[in-house]
Amino acid sequence: MTIPIHTESPADLPAIEPLDMLVIAPHPDDAELGMGGTIAKMIHEGMRVGVLDLTTGEPTPHGSEAIRRQETSVATEALNLTWRGNAGLTNRKLVHTLDARQLVASYFRILRPRWIFAPYWNDAHPDHVAATDLIEAARFWAKLSKTDMPGQRFHPERIYYYFCIHLRIAVDPDWIVDISDHWDAKLASILAYDSQFVQGRPTDPPTMIDQLHYEAANWGRLINRRYGEPFATKEPLAMKSLRDLI
Ligand SMILES: [Zn+2]
Repeated sequence: MTIPIHTESPADLPAIEPLDMLVIAPHPDDAELGMGGTIAKMIHEGMRVGVLDLTTGEPTPHGSEAIRRQETSVATEALNLTWRGNAGLTNRKLVHTLDARQLVASYFRILRPRWIFAPYWNDAHPDHVAATDLIEAARFWAKLSKTDMPGQRFHPERIYYYFCIHLRIAVDPDWIVDISDHWDAKLASILAYDSQFVQGRPTDPPTMIDQLHYEAANWGRLINRRYGEPFATKEPLAMKSLRDLI
């Protein structure tokens, strides 16, 4: 069964069980690039994981809204997402307005994700920087009472940050997830965006896909595994046990 991409306003979304994780992405493909392996892994382990794209990501040189939507569908299937939606904000013009804050907070109140994932706060792309700021504020707003936002007041317990950045910097993550068994799913979800990562890209090595591969292998190397994905947090990590440390 095809997984739908919801474009209804939050108040009109079909009711679902609360999500465990909601990844919020400025553009369709950022969630896949930043944490596709971790998403696939957590779904494989039985968690309910959604992705909310804030904009269509279009226009781009080789894409169109119809193509990007189709590619997003293929990526969604590759990761077997529990839920996917698009908030309909404007690509290239993403700004943290009060209306945008209310919209994203409304998604949190309806989808009730325990954890949310935002793009890392330091980036060259203005849409990404705006998204991080917007998501942090919306997390706070989601718990407001006496408001006309839909759903019940709700505060996502944790906010974490994934890396999908346009700055050529050596990032310094707080932890790395072993995605060795889920690299294939991540790669499939990225290759779904043919208009973004294949068409018009140089074919001489290292291709963009080669570079993603090297990067994942390097994060894996740091934790003595084949492939990894890095994450950051502003608040301390809380652990039930040291059992999952490797
Ligand atoms: Zn992006």
